[in-house]
Amino acid sequence: MTDKLETITGNRGLQLEQPLIFEQDAPGRLGVDLGEPQTSETHLGGVERKDAIGLPNLSEPQTVRHYTRISQKNYGIDSGFYPLGSCTMKHNPRLNEKMARLPGFASLHPMQPTSTTQGALELIDACAHWLKVTCNMPAVAMSPAAGAQGELCGMMAIKAAIEDRGEGEQRTRVLVPESAHGTNPATAAACGYSVDSIPANDRGRVDLDAFLSKLDDDVAGIMLTNPNTCGLFESDIIKIADAVHDAGAFFYCDGANLNAIMGRIRPGDLGIDCMHINLHKTFSTPHGGGGPGAGPVVLSEPLAPFAPLPFVVHGDDGFDLVEHKDGEGEKSFGRIKGFHGQMGMFIRALSFMMSHGSDGLRQASSDAVLNANYLLAELKDTLSPSFDGPCMHECLFDDSFLKDTGVTTLDFAKAMIDEGFHPMTMYFPLVVHGALLMEPTESESLETLDQYIHALKGLTAMAKSGNADHFLEAPRLTPRRRLDETAAARAPVLRWKKEE
Ligand SMILES: *Cc1c(COP(=O)(O)O)cnc(C)c1O
Repeated sequence: MTDKLETITGNRGLQLEQPLIFEQDAPGRLGVDLGEPQTSETHLGGVERKDAIGLPNLSEPQTVRHYTRISQKNYGIDSGFYPLGSCTMKHNPRLNEKMARLPGFASLHPMQPTSTTQGALELIDACAHWLKVTCNMPAVAMSPAAGAQGELCGMMAIKAAIEDRGEGEQRTRVLVPESAHGTNPATAAACGYSVDSIPANDRGRVDLDAFLSKLDDDVAGIMLTNPNTCGLFESDIIKIADAVHDAGAFFYCDGANLNAIMGRIRPGDLGIDCMHINLHKTFSTPHGGGGPGAGPVVLSEPLAPFAPLPFVVHGDDGFDLVEHKDGEGEKSFGRIKGFHGQMGMFIRALSFMMSHGSDGLRQASSDAVLNANYLLAELKDTLSPSFDGPCMHECLFDDSFLKDTGVTTLDFAKAMIDEGFHPMTMYFPLVVHGALLMEPTESESLETLDQYIHALKGLTAMAKSGNADHFLEAPRLTPRRRLDETAAARAPVLRWKKEE
């Protein structure tokens, strides 16, 4: 790679190179003055540490700079546009954070007696209520820690219901469309099912005939995403639900894309039996960095008795928790998560719901779909849309616009980084060659979308004008350039070792 851009120090502008904190160790350097400790007789029976503790020695300003610099290397939704399709990277309102930090919530301990946590239980119950009403479903399991764990929870409930009917041996197959998120087949397999994949038709939807031909009395369920991962509404969903039920199977809907339909369609009206809701997608809780997430699962009447423990109930003296497999919890498949799930995420999600109101939630999904269609309309003559017609909350392109340019989807994405944009989702869904999947969400402004469109049009013109080198060398302006992603995945260096 050319390097007119190399510097003497390795720093780039005011983006500074930052070694690991252990590599900055200067023995004896301290941020605080401590008096000599009073020694007392040891009670450790000879197992005390003999060597130095091995923490790095740094001054306070060095420590502050270290953490500030590495925090600046992080790109997040607060820094810029993050159009990762399928991930719904929307703004995390500060009001949510303020609510989650209220001392009454922030200082709770999950092992407190319920008599002292009535407000927290009421909040979980209120958040559950909003989810049930939004989805028109009778029950919801709040504890799963993410979408993927929600899938596991939903499929375990389905499995428990099937076993309860005495059909556990008979129903061994789960149908999953080809375009599904990888967690769907992984979940079905983790539950001991064989995965049978359903092809997509040329409209990017499930091929109904292929689906019907695979349906039999050994099928436990279908796992379908709607809108699907191509950003398209599965228009045969009611026919699919009816056929699944006629075959005695259950309908798992992957609800990661609820952000496209919230307030417009209620999943319960479509005949689904269970669906996870990623609070970090639709309900604006942080995707990472804020601690573990939450993926509550709404459940139909037949599945509700199998929901995981614990769950909140309206008891004789206020709210109560069902924590054991008896009484109302008799048929529960058990626990899936420590304690009640992620309280901090319930607070943030409820804050988002209540500050928007039901009309605001409907507006949010409408704006998300409008923004995606704006990108599609503005880019359809530049990039190559995978399917005809409008999209839902994300728009999908294949790589045919790059044909004969010598530039791949990956190269194109790396050049976007130099232009100041986090790339879209690439090479997913697998049903589209060299996929570029873009999801602007409702929180992006028209100005941001226009800048993005302008950058993509400029890059496409450059690729088509024969300037492949520009792309093959990208990114040129980042602290690191192309990483060896295979080595990073296959031979990760997870532990720092002191050089002897
Ligand atoms: C994000 C996503 C998941 C997994 O959710 P996590 O919360 O990341 O575990 C599953 N299915 C689809 C379609 C998704 O977009």
